[in-house]
Amino acid sequence: MLLETVGAPLRAAELAEPRAGGGELVVEIGACGVCRTDLHVVDGELPEPALPLVPGHQVVGRVTAGGERFGAGERVGVPWLGWTCGECRFCRSGRENLCDRARFTGYTRPGGYAERIAADERFCLRLPDGYPDLQAAPLLCAGLIGYRTLRLAGDAERVGIYGFGAAAHIVIQVALHQGRRLFAFTRAGDDAAQAFARELGAEWAGPSDEPAPEELDAALIFAPAGPLVPAALRAVAKGGSVVCGGIHMSDIPAMPYELLWGERVLRSVANLTRADGEEFLALAPEVPVRTEVESHPLEDANEALARLRGGLVRGSAVLVP
Ligand SMILES: [Zn+2]
Ligand SMILES: [Zn+2]
Repeated sequence: MLLETVGAPLRAAELAEPRAGGGELVVEIGACGVCRTDLHVVDGELPEPALPLVPGHQVVGRVTAGGERFGAGERVGVPWLGWTCGECRFCRSGRENLCDRARFTGYTRPGGYAERIAADERFCLRLPDGYPDLQAAPLLCAGLIGYRTLRLAGDAERVGIYGFGAAAHIVIQVALHQGRRLFAFTRAGDDAAQAFARELGAEWAGPSDEPAPEELDAALIFAPAGPLVPAALRAVAKGGSVVCGGIHMSDIPAMPYELLWGERVLRSVANLTRADGEEFLALAPEVPVRTEVESHPLEDANEALARLRGGLVRGSAVLVP
């Protein structure tokens, strides 16, 4: 499924077979998760996608032509981080997620809304057994980025989650496993998302335009809405953190300094490192994280994106070729 012009629907296209360059694998795709970042790419909210582009960066499949790390027939995950330079000051200090020259699957490299993909095997991830392809796909971004977002909130006990979609439904399971208390904030009137959050163990779920029932120690923002930043800062206690987990957000409104005062921290999360991937994929079966998915045939990618845009997806949407 090809994005030729930003803002236009994807189009089913016959493309040349991907060829494995040096150090690359060809992977026969079993499932590819749909992420909000895909919507930002399709809508032109991220600069310079490599058009014409196959989106998708939560790819699960089997290696057809083996490399050195993975043999033919092995199952791998292909995540967002597709390549880094290994040389810049970020790469050399364990922060490859910030690499100046990083390339991203389904954005600046071809992605997984397809039947096959070529991927640099150094950035492919081994997947835990016990997760069928469909259930494994959302672990690769919703899970990974969600986990990094939670980790950057430190040892916060009372955690608020703003936006209860794919990332949140995974993060809440990890956070509860770590003994934290969870509060879920959704769009006003989104009773389904609030009920889903309670089912997964949130002790409170309500609309984001209402005050939190008690002070929070951290807030994780997954919804791409800038006005949630001052709302979340207002909800966290002195010394608390607000972590923005998305790649794009609408503008943050002006706010009084007193919301940040008291050593509150506001930060973002950018991308993932391979170490995040290995750590999270080892942790997921221990929790155990269970992902809730709705599957769509690959050719219905536009419909899956529309459902995500409309807030209609419970858990994560996944495309199956
Ligand atoms: Zn680099
Ligand atoms: Zn993503």
